[in-house]
Amino acid sequence: MQPLFIQSFDNLITAHIMMGRLQNDGVECKLFDENTLTLMPYLNNALGGIKLVVDKSDESRARQLLEKYQLEEWEGAECPQCGHKEFILLPQKKPSNYFTAIFTWLFTNYALSVNQYECQHCHYSCDTLPQKQIV
Ligand SMILES: [Zn+2]
Repeated sequence: MQPLFIQSFDNLITAHIMMGRLQNDGVECKLFDENTLTLMPYLNNALGGIKLVVDKSDESRARQLLEKYQLEEWEGAECPQCGHKEFILLPQKKPSNYFTAIFTWLFTNYALSVNQYECQHCHYSCDTLPQKQIV
């Protein structure tokens, strides 16, 4: 196996979901730095996140699958207020979020913030990407 770094993640859960989906679709892959960054998340910027690594021969297939997974996630999103499907991921605009970002930047050299999804049409915001309701 000739390892090739293909994507990085800032949290373990998303990294494992993507690794599992790729493995389920027949692409051999591994995660690097997952234990280090789970124990010391403030090193995330210094180490470049949790790295998803595939064999060089699987690069194009893995990239296609990762793009497909991303599109599937965003295609199912629908605003519960206006029904539009365009969302953007932004930091929350709460005083506590600014305080957290400044505090973590000062003491860990890494500014953590809580993000939220915002509808591009009506500015409805929520913590998780709202999925279309199936009736
Ligand atoms: Zn909306």
